[in-house]
Amino acid sequence: TANILEVKGLKKYFPFKKGLLGKAMEYVRAVDGVDFHIGYGETLGLVGESGCGKSTTGRTIMRLLEPTEGEIFFEGQNITRFNKKQLRQVYKHMQLIFQDPFASLNPRKAVGDAVDEVLLVHGMKDGVKRRERVEELFDMVGLRKEDMDKYPHEFSGGQRQRVVIARALAVNPKLLICDEPVSALDVSIQAQIINLLMELKERLKLSYLFISHDLRVVRHISDRVAVMYLGKIVEMAPAEDLFREPLHPYSKALLSVIPVLKPGQKRKKLVLEGEVPNPVNPPTGCRFSTRCKYATKQCSEIEPPIKLVGNRHFVACHLC
Ligand code: SF4
Ligand code: MG
Repeated sequence: TANILEVKGLKKYFPFKKGLLGKAMEYVRAVDGVDFHIGYGETLGLVGESGCGKSTTGRTIMRLLEPTEGEIFFEGQNITRFNKKQLRQVYKHMQLIFQDPFASLNPRKAVGDAVDEVLLVHGMKDGVKRRERVEELFDMVGLRKEDMDKYPHEFSGGQRQRVVIARALAVNPKLLICDEPVSALDVSIQAQIINLLMELKERLKLSYLFISHDLRVVRHISDRVAVMYLGKIVEMAPAEDLFREPLHPYSKALLSVIPVLKPGQKRKKLVLEGEVPNPVNPPTGCRFSTRCKYATKQCSEIEPPIKLVGNRHFVACHLC
């Protein structure tokens, strides 16, 4: 198979009981029927406002959350119902990097030991070899040997994220799911980490699912971009095409808040008004209809199917 990851009809609903005495179950439809694939060596950016289901998508793919419906194929293997033992094999090849590097590191453990531990868990028994490997990993992410004995609080946010990346790379993964990996960092540091991730991608032939609410960040690292709104993908296209000419009104609005770099080039600012509606009761028809300035009667009645409109360019909108 040419794809490292394939996601088919993925849904993740979180059930809850309505009201104190309620018996009826309701569902937060965090991910509501998502399809995409990632080719070997490819980076797919997944963007949208917070609360659109991006993180839930990433966690469900990692099987940290049980999928409600749909299927996940990793290297052609259907991992949707893999048990813990089977998943451990998968995690040698697929790793997750979280948003907050501080929260994902044990404050009482020297960072070198945190990486060492991963190697041990994955069966590297020889302590000397492990030490060498940790050194190699630290070097790979731009940290020094001396840093291995330090604790998380002794590092800046960017350095901590480098540690987290080293730890994720320890098992030689092929796919990294990066969930807002730079969102907690200063803008100047963001670029450094993005560059590191791009460099590592080339060097180690990695593939990425790169989740971010920030389109500027996604732009440089992604080969293709999927735009998610209220649990669904509304547009998916090669990054260049999406940034040059977004077609879905939601993508247009998201993009319009990015400053245009070339002088003379203007982008009309389309303000996104209101908040993302409640995913317990998403709007009927097109989910964006309550915020879309082009919405017609049809939009609130009929859900627009996602259609191929150009070279690998998909859009779900009645207007396109
Ligand atoms: Fe807007 Fe209608 Fe397109 Fe939805 S289908 S994005 S409401 S124009
Ligand atoms: Mg998130």
